[in-house]
Amino acid sequence: MMKRTLILLIGCALLARCKENQKTKPLIDSEIKDTHGAPSPPSKVFTEPQDSNVKIIPIEHATAILEWNDITIYIDPVGGLEAFEGQKQPDLILITDVHGDHLSVETLEALNTEKAKIIVPQAVADKIPSDFTPQLDILDNGESKERYGITVEAIPMYNIREEALKFHTKGRGNGYVLNIDGQRLYFSGDTEDIPEMRALQNIDKAFICMNLPYTMTPESAASAVLEFKPKQMYPYHYRGRPDVSDVAKFKAMVYAGNPDLEVVQLDWYPNDEY
Ligand SMILES: [Zn+2]
Repeated sequence: MMKRTLILLIGCALLARCKENQKTKPLIDSEIKDTHGAPSPPSKVFTEPQDSNVKIIPIEHATAILEWNDITIYIDPVGGLEAFEGQKQPDLILITDVHGDHLSVETLEALNTEKAKIIVPQAVADKIPSDFTPQLDILDNGESKERYGITVEAIPMYNIREEALKFHTKGRGNGYVLNIDGQRLYFSGDTEDIPEMRALQNIDKAFICMNLPYTMTPESAASAVLEFKPKQMYPYHYRGRPDVSDVAKFKAMVYAGNPDLEVVQLDWYPNDEY
């Protein structure tokens, strides 16, 4: 009887908390399952499909690590040394754009990047100290480079809404497609649903940005992925100003449009509730 009351109380508390979150923040794709009175459950539970030998480690917002065999790839490393505590040293670093949520010279200088090749667009190369020059591979939109058996293709990323044109001009930044072990992983960078994204082919995993005012709405993101049909998509880069984008809405629209696709929600904001 005691146990039941306890379960009921915990249930009510969680429900109240969820309701409160709904007022200000969108629902996340998570579940709280602990009803046994054990120590407090994590507020978010994320599961990653174990269907690939490329391990994906979300760091925060646009920043991620990929591990494949002995190769470690950092995408847009920002957040200082502490954001990468306990992680392997990078062999390859990909930077998409010049903004502070994608490029941090301080972070590059703090990390041990001794053995890393760094793939960047020219605009990013222009902001990186010359000590790094020998390590840089500069790619323009449409170019590609092979490193460690991984072919990296630079994909355009830019705004198309009139009011957003100032954020990302065409040609400055790079999204990337990584061809790793027969799989194609796409990191959108900061972009809208441009024709070059919609025309992508055979993408296995697509990391899709959606935040306003800088990138896409959940609607345009969903419309784009329904066109190029990545097998799995990972919403990322969804904290905006002032609001966090509604990734649950994105997921619902994708599934309504094509139930064969899969939306994978990882914890891109470990220090926040969303
Ligand atoms: Zn960004």
